[in-house]
Amino acid sequence: MLKTLSILFAMCAMTAGALTASASDKPNIIIIYADDLGYGDLGCYGHPTIRTPNLDRMAAEGMRFTEFYSTAEVCTPSRAALMTGRYPVRNGMCHDKFRVLRNNSKGGLPKDEVTLPELLKTQGYATGMVGKWHLGHLPEHLPPHHGFDSYFGMPFSNDMMPAPDAPKGRERFFAENNDYWKTPLIRGTEIVEEHPDQRQLTKRYSDEAVRFIKEKKNAPFFLYVAHSFPHVPLFASENFRGKSPAGIYGDVVEELDWSVGQILDTLRAEGLDEKTLVVFSSDNGPWLIFDDHGGSAGLLKEGKGSTWEGGMRVPGIFWWPTKIPAGSIQREMANTMDVFATCALLGGATLPETKIDGIDISPLLFGTGTVDRPPFMYYRGATLYACRLGRWKAHFLTQPAYGTPKAEPHDPPQLYQVKIDPGERWDRAALNPDVIAQIKSAVEQHRAGLQMAPTQLEETVATAP
Ligand code: MG
Repeated sequence: MLKTLSILFAMCAMTAGALTASASDKPNIIIIYADDLGYGDLGCYGHPTIRTPNLDRMAAEGMRFTEFYSTAEVCTPSRAALMTGRYPVRNGMCHDKFRVLRNNSKGGLPKDEVTLPELLKTQGYATGMVGKWHLGHLPEHLPPHHGFDSYFGMPFSNDMMPAPDAPKGRERFFAENNDYWKTPLIRGTEIVEEHPDQRQLTKRYSDEAVRFIKEKKNAPFFLYVAHSFPHVPLFASENFRGKSPAGIYGDVVEELDWSVGQILDTLRAEGLDEKTLVVFSSDNGPWLIFDDHGGSAGLLKEGKGSTWEGGMRVPGIFWWPTKIPAGSIQREMANTMDVFATCALLGGATLPETKIDGIDISPLLFGTGTVDRPPFMYYRGATLYACRLGRWKAHFLTQPAYGTPKAEPHDPPQLYQVKIDPGERWDRAALNPDVIAQIKSAVEQHRAGLQMAPTQLEETVATAP
């Protein structure tokens, strides 16, 4: 009901807004989301051997954030936050033990959550999604039931359905053998391929994205391209396999970079570049337990699965020629929930009445002002581990991403000045009790206003698709 009211309200706002702005004034919006790409994995973020000329050019023509965060340290909650602008504890898309939806999960993003494509549809947008969804794979949870007119991609991670005869354990991840993996491809809400060739996946996602842009170029459109890679198992097509000085991980990231180039070149060729906002980011940090098949968080500590900076601080590049100052480097914090709020407002929508945790960062993007940055909460599953307030980050709980079943509590919390110490090496708690008091108060305020939703990640079905 609340959702229906929110959408109706947004539609009324559109009717009123139509007097001042026609549909053609609205920017197209494209979000490109990599899977498990680390903070240090791109040329423009300092990687010495992975070649990313297209993303480097995107950054040179747009804005590169140095403190951009995914809202979670693993896939499902991260994607829920991007789609809804809310901490995943508000909509049940997180769980301390299960962490993500699996191929036998019954749950998905709750129907009453208002998604970014739903909001943009109220403003006349054509909406499409290509790639990994991971917010529920049963037909009723798929993108067409959450505001997307079209969908083509994998419903969850590319490692979630190993073939029954594949080797057990880690060996299968390093084998680069497509026969070992059976994650299906879906179009709309139907499985169209039971056993796709993952070597062709990035190319096929790109072709779909380019086709969508060309087909929808006369209406404002929203396109969400969520790549399956560089999540393991790694696969690249024949044009990239064995080409990167950085090995197979480099091959895969260089093909993703090529794909970004395909999208930006299409926008230029179609004359859409000056009316399209493109955002590039990653759902969480690198999966470090996979050795050279995992990426790098650069100078940050830890990776995927952790609330240390390397688990959640990721590349964040924003591109909109003539609107976003070219070659700008943004050192203010931002996060994926802000992408929700900013894109919804740029599209002319009104934000839902429910609590939205993201803020409008268009003053940062356009160089027109500052923003009032709320504290940022680092959750692992449904548990709050850390909080960042301005330059400071306090860890109430710490835990390595893998291998340690229990979190270590800290009272006083460990305190790092992450502008000076992005690698979180020097605990400054003893010297700054006043900062700790401020952060504790911010956390209390957050908790006081928090209505935790029941988790959607627990219930399972007997059989996978
Ligand atoms: Mg991921």
